[in-house]
Amino acid sequence: MTAFIDYHIHTHHSFDCKIPMAEMCAAAIEAGISEIAFSDHFNNHLLDIDLGYYDPERYFTDLERCRRQFPNLTIRAAVEVGEPHRWQRKIQPVLERYPYDVVLGSLHWVGNNNMFSNDYFRGNPPQVAFGAYFTELARMAAHGGFNILAHVDLPKRVGFEVYGAFDIRPFEDSIRATWQACIDNDIALELNTKGLRSAAAEIHPAQEALRWYVEMGGRLLTFGSDAHRANNIGGGFEVARQSALSVGLSRVCRFEGGRIVGWSDL
Ligand SMILES: [Zn+2]
Ligand SMILES: [Zn+2]
Repeated sequence: MTAFIDYHIHTHHSFDCKIPMAEMCAAAIEAGISEIAFSDHFNNHLLDIDLGYYDPERYFTDLERCRRQFPNLTIRAAVEVGEPHRWQRKIQPVLERYPYDVVLGSLHWVGNNNMFSNDYFRGNPPQVAFGAYFTELARMAAHGGFNILAHVDLPKRVGFEVYGAFDIRPFEDSIRATWQACIDNDIALELNTKGLRSAAAEIHPAQEALRWYVEMGGRLLTFGSDAHRANNIGGGFEVARQSALSVGLSRVCRFEGGRIVGWSDL
Protein backbone atom coordinates (compact mmCIF):
# COMPACT_ATOMS: atom_id res chain seq x y z
CA MET A 1 0.00 0.00 0.00
CA THR A 2 1.19 3.45 -0.83
CA ALA A 3 1.98 5.79 2.01
CA PHE A 4 0.00 8.94 1.54
CA ILE A 5 1.23 12.50 1.94
CA ASP A 6 -1.04 15.04 3.63
CA TYR A 7 -0.12 18.67 2.97
CA HIS A 8 -3.06 20.39 4.63
CA ILE A 9 -3.24 19.86 8.39
CA HIS A 10 -4.09 22.37 11.11
CA THR A 11 -2.92 22.44 14.73
CA HIS A 12 -3.57 24.58 17.78
CA HIS A 13 -1.54 27.28 16.00
CA SER A 14 -4.76 27.88 14.05
CA PHE A 15 -7.63 29.71 15.79
CA ASP A 16 -10.11 27.01 14.76
CA CYS A 17 -8.15 23.97 15.91
CA LYS A 18 -7.47 22.82 19.45
CA ILE A 19 -5.17 19.86 18.85
CA PRO A 20 -1.48 20.17 19.79
CA MET A 21 1.00 19.63 16.95
CA ALA A 22 2.62 16.61 18.61
CA GLU A 23 -0.77 14.92 18.86
CA MET A 24 -1.33 15.50 15.13
CA CYS A 25 2.09 13.92 14.41
CA ALA A 26 1.21 10.81 16.41
CA ALA A 27 -2.15 10.59 14.61
CA ALA A 28 -0.48 10.91 11.20
CA ILE A 29 1.85 8.01 11.97
CA GLU A 30 -1.12 6.02 13.24
CA ALA A 31 -2.95 6.74 9.96
CA GLY A 32 0.00 5.48 7.92
CA ILE A 33 0.92 8.89 6.53
CA SER A 34 4.63 9.23 5.70
CA GLU A 35 4.87 12.96 5.14
CA ILE A 36 2.81 15.89 6.37
CA ALA A 37 2.72 19.65 6.23
CA PHE A 38 1.32 21.76 9.03
CA SER A 39 -0.55 24.53 7.27
CA ASP A 40 -1.86 26.79 10.00
CA HIS A 41 -3.95 29.83 9.13
CA PHE A 42 -2.29 33.16 8.52
CA ASN A 43 -5.26 35.45 7.96
CA ASN A 44 -5.14 39.17 7.30
CA HIS A 45 -8.61 40.29 6.28
CA LEU A 46 -9.76 43.02 8.64
CA LEU A 47 -12.93 41.03 9.30
CA ASP A 48 -11.10 37.78 10.09
CA ILE A 49 -11.88 36.83 13.67
CA ASP A 50 -8.35 35.48 14.12
CA LEU A 51 -6.59 38.62 12.93
CA GLY A 52 -3.24 38.69 14.77
CA TYR A 53 -3.61 35.15 16.12
CA TYR A 54 -0.94 33.50 13.99
CA ASP A 55 2.50 33.47 15.59
CA PRO A 56 5.23 32.07 13.29
CA GLU A 57 7.82 32.14 16.07
CA ARG A 58 5.78 29.78 18.26
CA TYR A 59 4.84 27.68 15.24
CA PHE A 60 8.47 27.04 14.24
CA THR A 61 9.58 26.33 17.81
CA ASP A 62 6.85 23.71 18.06
CA LEU A 63 7.65 22.33 14.61
CA GLU A 64 11.34 21.83 15.43
CA ARG A 65 10.40 20.07 18.64
CA CYS A 66 8.08 17.71 16.72
CA ARG A 67 10.76 17.00 14.11
CA ARG A 68 13.06 15.84 16.92
CA GLN A 69 10.30 13.88 18.63
CA PHE A 70 9.11 12.11 15.44
CA PRO A 71 12.26 11.46 13.36
CA ASN A 72 10.52 8.93 11.10
CA LEU A 73 7.83 11.35 10.00
CA THR A 74 8.70 13.95 7.38
CA ILE A 75 7.25 17.22 8.63
CA ARG A 76 7.08 20.15 6.23
CA ALA A 77 6.70 23.72 7.38
CA ALA A 78 3.67 25.18 5.66
CA VAL A 79 1.21 28.00 6.08
CA GLU A 80 -2.27 28.62 4.70
CA VAL A 81 -2.41 32.26 3.69
CA GLY A 82 -5.81 33.82 3.11
CA GLU A 83 -6.13 35.97 -0.04
CA PRO A 84 -2.38 36.30 -0.79
CA HIS A 85 -3.17 38.68 -3.65
CA ARG A 86 -4.78 41.18 -1.28
CA TRP A 87 -2.51 41.14 1.77
CA GLN A 88 0.86 40.68 0.15
CA ARG A 89 2.52 43.49 2.12
CA LYS A 90 1.63 41.77 5.39
CA ILE A 91 2.38 38.25 4.19
CA GLN A 92 5.61 38.69 2.25
CA PRO A 93 7.84 39.71 5.20
CA VAL A 94 6.74 36.63 7.16
CA LEU A 95 7.33 34.30 4.21
CA GLU A 96 10.77 35.81 3.70
CA ARG A 97 11.77 35.62 7.32
CA TYR A 98 10.82 32.02 8.11
CA PRO A 99 11.94 28.77 6.42
CA TYR A 100 8.65 27.54 4.98
CA ASP A 101 8.73 24.49 2.75
CA VAL A 102 5.42 25.16 1.07
CA VAL A 103 2.77 27.89 1.03
CA LEU A 104 -0.94 27.24 0.49
CA GLY A 105 -3.04 30.01 -1.04
CA SER A 106 -6.69 30.17 0.00
CA LEU A 107 -9.61 32.34 -0.93
CA HIS A 108 -11.97 32.66 2.05
CA TRP A 109 -13.24 36.17 1.30
CA VAL A 110 -14.55 37.90 -1.81
CA GLY A 111 -14.54 41.57 -0.92
CA ASN A 112 -16.20 41.58 2.49
CA ASN A 113 -18.21 38.44 1.82
CA ASN A 114 -17.11 35.37 3.76
CA MET A 115 -17.43 32.04 1.96
CA PHE A 116 -18.44 30.29 5.20
CA SER A 117 -21.38 32.62 5.75
CA ASN A 118 -24.86 31.23 5.18
CA ASP A 119 -26.18 34.75 4.71
CA TYR A 120 -23.98 35.35 1.70
CA PHE A 121 -25.49 32.39 -0.16
CA ARG A 122 -29.02 33.08 1.06
CA GLY A 123 -28.75 36.64 -0.23
CA ASN A 124 -27.55 35.73 -3.73
CA PRO A 125 -28.52 33.31 -6.49
CA PRO A 126 -25.90 30.57 -7.09
CA GLN A 127 -24.71 32.09 -10.35
CA VAL A 128 -23.82 35.32 -8.55
CA ALA A 129 -22.48 33.85 -5.30
CA PHE A 130 -20.25 31.23 -6.94
CA GLY A 131 -19.49 33.42 -9.96
CA ALA A 132 -17.95 36.19 -7.85
CA TYR A 133 -15.80 33.64 -6.04
CA PHE A 134 -14.43 31.97 -9.17
CA THR A 135 -13.69 35.31 -10.83
CA GLU A 136 -11.69 36.33 -7.77
CA LEU A 137 -9.97 32.93 -7.61
CA ALA A 138 -8.61 33.39 -11.15
CA ARG A 139 -7.29 36.79 -10.06
CA MET A 140 -5.58 35.25 -7.03
CA ALA A 141 -3.94 32.50 -9.10
CA ALA A 142 -2.73 35.05 -11.64
CA HIS A 143 -1.14 37.05 -8.83
CA GLY A 144 0.70 33.95 -7.54
CA GLY A 145 3.07 34.05 -4.58
CA PHE A 146 2.16 30.62 -3.21
CA ASN A 147 2.84 26.95 -4.10
CA ILE A 148 -0.51 25.19 -3.72
CA LEU A 149 -4.00 26.40 -4.55
CA ALA A 150 -6.14 25.10 -1.69
CA HIS A 151 -9.78 23.91 -1.72
CA VAL A 152 -10.62 25.30 -5.18
CA ASP A 153 -14.41 25.22 -5.03
CA LEU A 154 -14.65 25.96 -1.31
CA PRO A 155 -18.03 27.81 -1.46
CA LYS A 156 -19.83 24.62 -2.41
CA ARG A 157 -19.51 23.50 1.23
CA VAL A 158 -21.95 26.10 2.55
CA GLY A 159 -23.54 26.84 -0.82
CA PHE A 160 -24.76 23.28 -1.04
CA GLU A 161 -26.51 23.61 2.32
CA VAL A 162 -28.39 26.66 1.04
CA TYR A 163 -29.11 25.70 -2.60
CA GLY A 164 -29.17 21.91 -2.26
CA ALA A 165 -26.92 21.44 -5.28
CA PHE A 166 -23.63 22.47 -6.83
CA ASP A 167 -22.71 22.43 -10.50
CA ILE A 168 -19.29 23.71 -11.54
CA ARG A 169 -19.95 23.72 -15.29
CA PRO A 170 -21.40 27.28 -15.52
CA PHE A 171 -18.06 28.56 -14.21
CA GLU A 172 -15.84 26.75 -16.68
CA ASP A 173 -14.32 29.95 -18.12
CA SER A 174 -13.16 31.21 -14.72
CA ILE A 175 -11.91 27.78 -13.69
CA ARG A 176 -9.94 27.41 -16.89
CA ALA A 177 -8.44 30.87 -16.37
CA THR A 178 -7.47 29.75 -12.86
CA TRP A 179 -5.88 26.55 -14.20
CA GLN A 180 -3.93 28.48 -16.83
CA ALA A 181 -2.59 30.83 -14.16
CA CYS A 182 -1.61 27.85 -11.98
CA ILE A 183 0.19 26.20 -14.88
CA ASP A 184 1.99 29.44 -15.78
CA ASN A 185 2.99 30.12 -12.16
CA ASP A 186 3.93 26.52 -11.22
CA ILE A 187 1.18 26.40 -8.63
CA ALA A 188 0.10 22.88 -7.66
CA LEU A 189 -3.54 21.96 -7.37
CA GLU A 190 -4.77 20.52 -4.09
CA LEU A 191 -7.23 17.67 -3.93
CA ASN A 192 -8.88 18.66 -0.67
CA THR A 193 -10.96 15.97 0.99
CA LYS A 194 -12.74 18.19 3.49
CA GLY A 195 -15.49 18.59 0.91
CA LEU A 196 -16.29 14.91 1.41
CA ARG A 197 -17.10 15.69 5.04
CA SER A 198 -19.42 18.57 4.05
CA ALA A 199 -23.00 18.53 2.78
CA ALA A 200 -21.73 18.62 -0.81
CA ALA A 201 -20.01 15.27 -0.12
CA GLU A 202 -17.43 15.64 -2.85
CA ILE A 203 -13.75 16.50 -3.13
CA HIS A 204 -12.45 19.97 -4.00
CA PRO A 205 -12.33 20.52 -6.89
CA ALA A 206 -15.27 18.81 -8.59
CA GLN A 207 -14.20 15.95 -10.86
CA GLU A 208 -15.19 17.82 -14.01
CA ALA A 209 -12.85 20.70 -13.14
CA LEU A 210 -10.03 18.28 -12.42
CA ARG A 211 -10.52 16.87 -15.90
CA TRP A 212 -10.19 20.38 -17.41
CA TYR A 213 -6.96 20.85 -15.47
CA VAL A 214 -5.37 17.72 -16.95
CA GLU A 215 -6.73 18.48 -20.40
CA MET A 216 -4.98 21.87 -20.25
CA GLY A 217 -1.68 20.26 -19.26
CA GLY A 218 -1.86 20.61 -15.48
CA ARG A 219 0.23 17.97 -13.70
CA LEU A 220 1.13 19.36 -10.27
CA LEU A 221 -0.98 17.81 -7.55
CA THR A 222 -1.06 17.50 -3.76
CA PHE A 223 -3.49 15.91 -1.31
CA GLY A 224 -4.85 17.74 1.71
CA SER A 225 -7.30 16.53 4.34
CA ASP A 226 -7.69 20.03 5.83
CA ALA A 227 -7.82 18.20 9.16
CA HIS A 228 -8.70 20.23 12.23
CA ARG A 229 -9.07 17.02 14.23
CA ALA A 230 -6.65 14.14 14.67
CA ASN A 231 -8.94 11.49 13.19
CA ASN A 232 -9.36 13.46 9.94
CA ILE A 233 -5.71 13.24 8.90
CA GLY A 234 -5.50 11.40 5.60
CA GLY A 235 -9.31 11.12 5.58
CA GLY A 236 -10.83 10.41 2.16
CA PHE A 237 -7.45 9.90 0.48
CA GLU A 238 -8.50 6.67 -1.16
CA VAL A 239 -11.34 8.61 -2.83
CA ALA A 240 -8.85 11.34 -3.81
CA ARG A 241 -6.53 8.71 -5.24
CA GLN A 242 -9.29 7.26 -7.42
CA SER A 243 -10.27 10.76 -8.49
CA ALA A 244 -6.68 11.54 -9.57
CA LEU A 245 -6.09 8.21 -11.28
CA SER A 246 -9.33 8.48 -13.24
CA VAL A 247 -8.04 11.61 -15.01
CA GLY A 248 -4.56 10.17 -15.52
CA LEU A 249 -2.73 11.80 -12.61
CA SER A 250 -0.68 9.15 -10.82
CA ARG A 251 1.63 11.07 -8.50
CA VAL A 252 1.74 13.96 -6.08
CA CYS A 253 4.56 16.43 -5.60
CA ARG A 254 6.74 16.84 -2.56
CA PHE A 255 7.96 20.25 -1.49
CA GLU A 256 10.95 21.50 0.45
CA GLY A 257 12.21 25.05 0.76
CA GLY A 258 9.45 26.35 -1.53
CA ARG A 259 10.35 24.01 -4.41
CA ILE A 260 9.26 20.65 -5.73
CA VAL A 261 11.94 18.18 -4.67
CA GLY A 262 10.31 14.91 -5.61
CA TRP A 263 7.21 12.94 -6.45
CA SER A 264 5.31 10.20 -4.77
CA ASP A 265 3.35 7.59 -6.71
CA LEU A 266 -0.29 7.15 -5.83
ZN1 LIG B 1 -9.04 27.26 4.09
ZN1 LIG C 1 -7.23 24.78 6.03
